[in-house]
Amino acid sequence: MRLAKFLAHGGVASRRTSEEIIREGRVTVGGEIVTDPARDVDASSGVAVDGVPVAGEEARVVFAVNKPMGYVSTAKDTHDRRKVTDLVPGRHGRLYPVGRLDVDSTGLLLLTNDGALAHRLTHPSFEVAKTYKVKVAKGPVSQRAVERLRAGVKLEDGRTAPARVVRVSGTVLELTIHEGRKHQVRRMCEAVGHPVVALERVKFGPLELGDLAPGKTRRLSAPEVERLR
Ligand code: URA
Repeated sequence: MRLAKFLAHGGVASRRTSEEIIREGRVTVGGEIVTDPARDVDASSGVAVDGVPVAGEEARVVFAVNKPMGYVSTAKDTHDRRKVTDLVPGRHGRLYPVGRLDVDSTGLLLLTNDGALAHRLTHPSFEVAKTYKVKVAKGPVSQRAVERLRAGVKLEDGRTAPARVVRVSGTVLELTIHEGRKHQVRRMCEAVGHPVVALERVKFGPLELGDLAPGKTRRLSAPEVERLR
């Protein structure tokens, strides 16, 4: 199939924008820059955009994982710790975590072999909403602390964007944020005087963790993947 069509089918961009991306020299086929949108390729050609591999339409998979405590969400770990990618059946090639959860966090994490989708869903401009159930210390959490979290708190890397905060109990909050800064929820709660004791992601964009048990994975259906795009 034509390279531009392959990128469009791979979810990179529209056919026309894909042609522009190709002409800009951002696309490699088998490691070589290709600027001709009509180049004939298939899923085995090794197509990448900005160095991120693009899988063919049929080969693309997205898994939801309920990350257990103690697992790292990176695909590689220098300390040889357990990895979330180990939880998924091995026949889908290299899988990319869509964003990160701290090693001590649990809950919903997506894994995919579609590097372009992973990149897009984690790019700040997409503002994907993520909801966390957070157990904090030093409760009960005051109304003032809740309002500070809602309005945005000052962290060393700048003020956080407004968040949705629901007080479930004196020490349990449900926090929805659109940003994805490192340790953001932990740092926000700490900043208002309530260190995090346990953090579980229960929602990512339109997807809910539901009753997926810790350590279990589930392949998303085609309509579910569509809703993420
Ligand atoms: N915010 C955190 O502080 N940790 C996570 O794992 C996710 C969001």
